[in-house]
Amino acid sequence: MAPTKRFSGKSVIITGSSNGIGRATAILFAKQGAQVTITGRDENRLEATKKQILKATSKPNDLNVVVANLTDSKGPDEIVNNAGANISDGTLNTDQSIELYQKTFQINFQAVVEMIKKTKDHLIKTKGEIVNVSSIAGNEQAFSATPYYCAAKSALNQYTRCVALDLIQYGVRVNSVSPGVVVTGFLGAMGLPDEARDKMANFMASNKACIPAGFCAKPNDIAEIILFLSDRKKSSYIVGQSIVADGGTSLVTGMTAFDMHEMI
Ligand code: NDP
Repeated sequence: MAPTKRFSGKSVIITGSSNGIGRATAILFAKQGAQVTITGRDENRLEATKKQILKATSKPNDLNVVVANLTDSKGPDEIVNNAGANISDGTLNTDQSIELYQKTFQINFQAVVEMIKKTKDHLIKTKGEIVNVSSIAGNEQAFSATPYYCAAKSALNQYTRCVALDLIQYGVRVNSVSPGVVVTGFLGAMGLPDEARDKMANFMASNKACIPAGFCAKPNDIAEIILFLSDRKKSSYIVGQSIVADGGTSLVTGMTAFDMHEMI
């Protein structure tokens, strides 16, 4: 008999799985035996995720594709609230508009609140898990160019903690992951062409003041952490935490970024 896979018999909704981290997460879950619901607005990109999943599993009955802004469908056992964006209208800093503030909070924070409210009762029945995808932009270092995105991710971090404390009494775990720089469609969604994205990623990877580890993460690096946090056998005692995965970015301050010997 074939060995049981890590998520056999579990069903998972992954928001924003038409690209980047969400796509890699959906593929990993499917490979590990889960029934997967993938969502996103872009039909063509969602189709590409679908093809990659079916190539890996050949199990169309275990795959549910929902083209939508954000949705639940049948009751899940795990939820990955991954959809998010640093939406851009060309303005930066305190010049960003109230309309942009509303849109940014809607996708990065309110959508998570709505999804958890819709699925909470079912997750309590199944003793499920929730993993939110936050960002180091929500931590204590300031990124002044895009204040609403940072504030929305900070709100998400605190919401994760509060909901975790509430739901753990019913056996539902809530955690999050806070990535640093990951090469995905994220900068493209902000309007940056691929060439500019690659230039930026190369600059950051080769500058120890940006990423001490010396490389940008790939979507799979974050997907593995999401699966770990979704797997009760591996992470049962982690409740309401955010795992920072940033190659050391958030450890660097202006002072430590430079060589002390060069200063003196
Ligand atoms: P991508 O742009 O590659 O993927 C974002 C996903 O979110 C897409 O599938 C997109 O689907 C979906 N999405 C965006 N807006 C909406 C919407 N209104 N309704 C439904 N789906 C939506 O970026 P990443 O994979 O990088 O982003 C995933 C998460 O990781 C986000 O929460 C982001 O904030 C976070 N993150 C990313 C970092 C990075 O460096 N890449 C760093 C830190 C955090 P579609 O366009 O088809 O709707």
